[in-house]
Amino acid sequence: MSCKRKHIAIIGAGASGLFLAKKLSESPEMYVTVFEKNRQVGAKLRASGGGKANIFNRYIRPEHYNQPEFIAELLHHYSPEQLESQFAEWGLVTITDEEGRVYPASQFSQTVVDVLTLYLHENVRLETNYDIQHLEYKNYKWVINDYPTPFDVLVLASGSPAGMIPKNQRNYNYYLQDLALKINPLESSLSGFILKDYPKSLSGCRTKAVVSLYQNKKLIHKESGEITFKDDGVSGIVIMNLSAYYRRLPSTKNCRLEINLTYWDENFDTDTYLRDNRNTTGLLHPKLAAFYHQKPFDIHRLAFQIDDTYPLEGAQVCHGGIDLSEIDGNFSAKRFKNLCILGEMLDVDGVCGGYNLFFAFASAAITATSITK
Ligand SMILES: Cc1cc2nc3c(=O)[nH]c(=O)nc-3n(C[C@H](O)[C@H](O)[C@H](O)COP(=O)(O)OP(=O)(O)OC[C@H]3O[C@@H](n4cnc5c(N)ncnc54)[C@H](O)[C@@H]3O)c2cc1C
Repeated sequence: MSCKRKHIAIIGAGASGLFLAKKLSESPEMYVTVFEKNRQVGAKLRASGGGKANIFNRYIRPEHYNQPEFIAELLHHYSPEQLESQFAEWGLVTITDEEGRVYPASQFSQTVVDVLTLYLHENVRLETNYDIQHLEYKNYKWVINDYPTPFDVLVLASGSPAGMIPKNQRNYNYYLQDLALKINPLESSLSGFILKDYPKSLSGCRTKAVVSLYQNKKLIHKESGEITFKDDGVSGIVIMNLSAYYRRLPSTKNCRLEINLTYWDENFDTDTYLRDNRNTTGLLHPKLAAFYHQKPFDIHRLAFQIDDTYPLEGAQVCHGGIDLSEIDGNFSAKRFKNLCILGEMLDVDGVCGGYNLFFAFASAAITATSITK
């Protein structure tokens, strides 16, 4: 019986690798080994959504990814509704907020990891503390490090160094050197901005605002929400989303942020307010009010030139990665036999709101179908 089994190796026990292992465990003819370099599985999934894990979005829109055409095609094959049914079948109860963001009802990301890892069938083996360093395709089988079993199918699901979770990701995906795939430069996305000529006195201020990203005179993207002023720049979900659009620009020269502090009414009549009141203390956060009195600015347009995004270790996702020309629509490598590539390793990144975990899970679901076919 065992000789009829197909041996599958998955590198990485993160969101995509664990989802794939769980799905394949339903096929008794599969024998799945998941290699994870850390002691614990699903570290980034557990850190997601501030520990609540925003696992997908009900209203996924392709234009919110850097690869809209690829995602539009993917949605024909796997939808948020299918993902919801899959999680429901596995016993995960979810809740959805008014923006379509879906979370486990437990409000605890560990629940998602547990649903994916507990009660697996005996045909899945988890090899933790196992760092993959080398791969080789020999005699129609994949050989991994010095592991005794060769594999029929190899799945790369080892994520990206974004967020550096856990903190020891320095030698990130070292083994990829053996494959010489086309890899686009890795840069931070969903990150804060470092700003030029920025007043440190604003550090610690949190306020709501409408924030616009401009390049020269062109509006690139605009969103409203809470922003946090740091020592050298700004962060917050709105800012992270703007950073995703910033990263997609062919050149990031001459970009600036314009912060409209009258978020409740973008056209609030500040001139009349300032005429009737001697100061801005009743209008602005105290740190912003103090800054205004030092150096008056247009409250509708507090502008800063962008220096850069924060580095990858502070970002939620990676922009760049394995070029999509290396795979087909089933996530199978075009230049290698029996090799699949999933999730954040690929050059696909989306905005905040469940877009990145949706991609990780959807890529795993489509791969499971193609492997079991
Ligand atoms: C702080 C934070 C919050 C986030 N919140 C959200 C959110 O709420 N919603 C959302 O949609 N997205 C969120 N994201 C993004 C999301 O978590 C990732 O896009 C997603 O986890 C990627 O899944 P993956 O399977 O591709 O990679 P990962 O989940 O990162 O899994 C990759 C695994 O491979 C292992 N690995 C790497 N190299 C090797 C090797 N050589 N050998 C063996 N194992 C290896 C890693 O240790 C890791 O466990 C967040 C990210 C961060 C950092």
